[in-house]
Amino acid sequence: MSDTPREIDALIEMMAKLPGLGPRSARRAVLHLIRKRGQLLMPLAQAMRAVADTARECLNCGNVATSDICPICTSEKRANGELCVVEEVADLWAMERSGHFKGRYHVLGGTLSALDAIGPEDLRIPKLISRIDSEGVTEVILALNATIDGQTTAHYISDQLQGRVSVTSLAQGVPVGGELDYLDDGTISAALRARKAF
Ligand SMILES: [Zn+2]
Repeated sequence: MSDTPREIDALIEMMAKLPGLGPRSARRAVLHLIRKRGQLLMPLAQAMRAVADTARECLNCGNVATSDICPICTSEKRANGELCVVEEVADLWAMERSGHFKGRYHVLGGTLSALDAIGPEDLRIPKLISRIDSEGVTEVILALNATIDGQTTAHYISDQLQGRVSVTSLAQGVPVGGELDYLDDGTISAALRARKAF
């Protein structure tokens, strides 16, 4: 259909699959990269190669890492007994950007969902429960989205942890259906400071 060289077409096709990009913006991005070969295209290709070779999930918390265990899990400074439970890595990054939380994280990798047949065993919930004892966790802070599935998941986890550890959740400020990643840093910090028993 097009006379564009096959390699370039293939790149455009891949780029168009990225979130926020469609075929049109992918074409523009690829043209831009080709024009800025030395400044942009080559360093980008190297950066992608490096991440492709090293990126993986932290075996402990599910964060993205370049080693089996991520720096947050290995840092003794983060072992303050607080464990913040989030749905996705983007939420962890949002919490980190706000700069207020000094404990560790646990990334579930989604939420319970009857509709999509996602049960506790499909999420990192068993690992979460085992970390309570192995890491001396004293407080689990639920930072799940205010969606129905997010809140169902929060209740399930809270039930599982009943009597073993204090369970709190972020205070008002997380909008209904809102995702943590879309909140500004001040809102996240305020919701964290004002967290309450779940
Ligand atoms: Zn980790």
